[in-house]
Amino acid sequence: MAKRIKKGDLVKIISGKDRGRQEKVLAVLNDKLLVDNVNKVKRHTKPAQEHKGGILEKLLPIAAARALIVCPSCKKAVRVGFKMVKDQKVRVCKKCAAVIDK
Ligand SMILES: [Zn+2]
Repeated sequence: MAKRIKKGDLVKIISGKDRGRQEKVLAVLNDKLLVDNVNKVKRHTKPAQEHKGGILEKLLPIAAARALIVCPSCKKAVRVGFKMVKDQKVRVCKKCAAVIDK
């Protein structure tokens, strides 16, 4: 199955505490996404040999269903469709029909 969201895409978060944010996808893991500045958690760490301890910020992946791609053409958070261009499956915006993949 073709991926609707890829690494490097700009996405808008549509649910949860980070709702409304627009950030870049850092990694795609099966049906989850690691998105810059989204689902950031603070971990308190105990001092160890390698580091001093304190508060460590960490990003946790979110379900892909919680994000919509931001169309580079109409700048809206949209659902993605697919079409064939010269034997290649490309992603298209369902709102304005612009091709998302270059
Ligand atoms: Zn569009």
